[in-house]
Amino acid sequence: MMRMAEDINFPNEIYYSLFKNNQDACYGMDLMGNFILYNDAFLELSGYINEDLVGKSFKEFVREPDLATTENHFIAALNGKRTRFETSINHKNGQVVHLQVTNIPIIHDGNVKGLVCSAKDMTDEKRTRKLLDGQNTILELIAKGHNLNEVLSSLVLLMEDVLDGGLCSILLMDHSLGILRKGTAVNLPSEYNDYINLGVTVGPTSGSCGKAAFTKLPVVVEDIEKDSLWNDHREIALKHNLRACWSYPVLDNQSRTLGTFAVYYPEARKPNQIDMMVIEKATYLTSLALQHYESEKKINFMAYHDELTALPNRRLFDIKASQALGNNKENLAFLFIDLDRFKVINDTLGHNIGDLLLREVAQRITSCIRRNDTAARQGGDEFIILLDNIMKNEVTKISNRILHTLSAPFYIQGKEIFVTPSIGISMYPEDGRNEGELLRKSDVAMYQAKKDGRNTFRFYDLNMDKEQVEQLKIENELRKALYRNELSLSFQPIIDTKSTKVVAVEALLRWQHHLMGNIPPGKFIPIAEENGLIIPIGQWVIENACRHLSVLDLKGYSHISISINLSIRQFYQPNLVAMVASIIKETEVNPARLNFEITESMTADVHLTSTTLNELKALGVSISIDDFGTGYSSLSYLRSFPINTLKIDRSFIKNIPQNKEDQDIATMIIYMAHKLGLKVIGEGVETSEQTEFLLKNGCDMMQGYYFSHPLTEKELFFYLGEN
Ligand code: C2E
Ligand code: MG
Ligand code: MG
Repeated sequence: MMRMAEDINFPNEIYYSLFKNNQDACYGMDLMGNFILYNDAFLELSGYINEDLVGKSFKEFVREPDLATTENHFIAALNGKRTRFETSINHKNGQVVHLQVTNIPIIHDGNVKGLVCSAKDMTDEKRTRKLLDGQNTILELIAKGHNLNEVLSSLVLLMEDVLDGGLCSILLMDHSLGILRKGTAVNLPSEYNDYINLGVTVGPTSGSCGKAAFTKLPVVVEDIEKDSLWNDHREIALKHNLRACWSYPVLDNQSRTLGTFAVYYPEARKPNQIDMMVIEKATYLTSLALQHYESEKKINFMAYHDELTALPNRRLFDIKASQALGNNKENLAFLFIDLDRFKVINDTLGHNIGDLLLREVAQRITSCIRRNDTAARQGGDEFIILLDNIMKNEVTKISNRILHTLSAPFYIQGKEIFVTPSIGISMYPEDGRNEGELLRKSDVAMYQAKKDGRNTFRFYDLNMDKEQVEQLKIENELRKALYRNELSLSFQPIIDTKSTKVVAVEALLRWQHHLMGNIPPGKFIPIAEENGLIIPIGQWVIENACRHLSVLDLKGYSHISISINLSIRQFYQPNLVAMVASIIKETEVNPARLNFEITESMTADVHLTSTTLNELKALGVSISIDDFGTGYSSLSYLRSFPINTLKIDRSFIKNIPQNKEDQDIATMIIYMAHKLGLKVIGEGVETSEQTEFLLKNGCDMMQGYYFSHPLTEKELFFYLGEN
């Protein structure tokens, strides 16, 4: 049966029930501030029992920092004011409880007799708020680029603040040794810190952190004294009053262990819902920070190191060198190392093995130098080393060590490989003042070492025969030029004298070396001739010239033809005609627009020359004699060859109009050539007087700086558009 309203002792029962059964803590105090009444919620919130509270003043329970405010509000209530404020008390178990309190004066007959209060537990809310603020601070630190240590320390302090009474540590995974090392543990006792610093084994039985890192799952140890997980570390933990330890793994996005985040308490204890939320957040922030700094480190590393060998790259080397030179150290040494015949290994065993070999060579070289020295990969199979503060006899020792270390066979993918280095050395300050000069000299010395039979080292010395060394250097470098993509073609317009329109271009080879810069063809073509490299290089020129012809077509210049220089060795190569034929077929160019320039010196073997020329002509191409007038051949002698054009050597043009004799020679060449049905090109035309002279004397075409220097493909199209 329902109770009737009149059965209730109204209103006292309602008030009492409201007080006693309230979810919030409620309590009454007398004028002294002593407890006279409290509800169950208050007992639960504070952890105390009746005996603890009876006759006690609130002042005994309020935490020191909040005492003054709390007293002020008490006095205000005694003066009849109702107030609401925040304070905190110590829970019986020592933990802090944050409260929002409402004080209500009890007024009887106009006098305050005491007060009744309600208190709401704000602890969790306060922690959550603090956590959010703190999280933003940490993210800001990361964004502003503070260093990792600062970020981790702030994180630990923040979490200690939120996890009241807890001391936090962050351990970092050392993947190379498979152990945990201290990251930050600002407030853990220093002896305990030192202990962690020795490294914590990662494994299923190795304390809270060791196990958390191992299992990648949180490990909660409520009581270190009793948990067998702490058998190995119990003594030191208890010595420092650490009783509980909860450790969470810090993982990256790929679930790799980066470290652990742990909280220690001085009493046996297990985490509540909020604690777990806080630690999860801490773990998340730690992971974020570690990943951020790891990727930054990686980017930094990549910018200053060679990808293949992980050695410093040229950029880092330059920085180290300028630091060392800037410090004005007594003595420095620059070593230039080139592996002998590395290209052969690369070509025969494949790039894959070549790369692995370079990596091992880099490691062995590094093992030979001292801590303050810098070994860098210059590119390809070249390494450069800066030896810091060193005397010549020490340099000798290190160089010998490198020779010795590299002389042991390399085993790569089941293959036994031998490589030897040639080392050139320059010394600071004797050999140069700046890095560029010192490296250049070590390079010269390196070529001397190669010249002296390779697998050795040489100090730079002034008497090194530069010419010869340079020759050898060019020879060596030229071998690499093709695969390094250092070659290119320039195109010099050939102009029709009467119409002044471009009718042809001459393809001229260019070599831009990555260190030595532009090397003129007059310097390297004779060397390529000598060692046979002109064969592959010459083929490259023909292929690329034909490709250029197709581009001319595409751009609507199908009336322009192209001239290609042939060198003597190329001319006599047995498969020249077949090679040209196959390139024509492959690139589908019109052979009538291809011209080959040969020089008089190539015509010495009349029989062979005419056979080859006839075969070439049969393909539909035309032939010019280049640099005419510098050789011994007479015009009539040339009659036996199927030639289309003569190019008057520029030495005859150069002194026109001053030199009468040259004028006569040029006039005569033009006259005779026309008699033989040949066209004539004047080379090296630099002035308007020369142009006028050639026009007057019926020279068909002209080529020279007066019209244009040799141009890149792009420049040529610009030129053609303008003219
Ligand atoms: P070349 O075949 O007689 O080419 C003409 C050379 O004269 C080019 O020099 C050109 O830049 C230069 N020249 C053009 N106009 C003037 C001018 O008005 N005044 C002066 N002083 N010089 C001018 P470059 O490019 O240095 O080539 C030198 C030589 O190297 C060429 O002489 C040619 O014999 C050879 N060469 C160039 N490219 C190749 C190639 O692809 N294969 C072969 N086998 N030889 C090449
Ligand atoms: Mg030429
Ligand atoms: Mg010429």
